[in-house]
Amino acid sequence: MHSIANDRCQSVTEITDHLGEIRDRVRNALHAAGRPGDDALIVAVSKGHPAAAIEEAYLAGQRHFGESYVQEAIPKMEQLRHLAIEWHFLGRLQANKTRAVAAHFQWVHTLDRLKVAARLSEQRPHYAAPLNVLLQVNQTGEPSKAGVAEREAAALARDVARLPRLALRGLMCFPPAVSTPSERAALFGRMRALEAALIAEGLPLETLSMGMSNDFEAAIAAGSTCVRIGSAIFGARPSR
Ligand SMILES: *Cc1c(COP(=O)(O)O)cnc(C)c1O
Repeated sequence: MHSIANDRCQSVTEITDHLGEIRDRVRNALHAAGRPGDDALIVAVSKGHPAAAIEEAYLAGQRHFGESYVQEAIPKMEQLRHLAIEWHFLGRLQANKTRAVAAHFQWVHTLDRLKVAARLSEQRPHYAAPLNVLLQVNQTGEPSKAGVAEREAAALARDVARLPRLALRGLMCFPPAVSTPSERAALFGRMRALEAALIAEGLPLETLSMGMSNDFEAAIAAGSTCVRIGSAIFGARPSR
């Protein structure tokens, strides 16, 4: 005997429980850093998981969700149109996908070149608020990864800040999967220093998006204001 209703109840409980644990851990990490308990936004990264899982997290109070693949995200957004969700785009920004990203998302964490920024600004629908953008920084020069080099971030930030339909909000990083905890802590600290340098130049940054399921406490200790958490909320992703 197989009961769909029971499966569904099971997953409601698990996602709700996981979210509760993550909220506690985020609050504890903030307090340990001497920061207010609500100083970091939790983005629930739902790539690879169905709309039903997102809805369950929503019912548990989650409002910000992250997706990495436009063609996967849009059908889920359509199914969930009745919910007041803020959608964060975390994937690679291909030039032929900018129009869909500009139309469907409220945040982009992975901006790394002016040409794509200009397209997003042009394509942002007139009825929507400016698109919130973060510059992805590639701190270690990993060739397989997107992101602007640290030494080029200031120039890109100045150019992006001038685009009328984008709101430059901050910086994002994504340390190499193989890095050790102390290497990651050093990279997170460098992001915080880069943010401070750009703020000192007059750029209006306030969001530092760093930290995932396995390192968000270290990221918060280093000053993260936005953690992107997938597997610790939704469980392991089916492989693509
Ligand atoms: C998938 C993804 C995450 C979430 O990763 P988990 O390890 O599952 O928490 C966060 N950020 C980005 C950019 C991602 O692609």
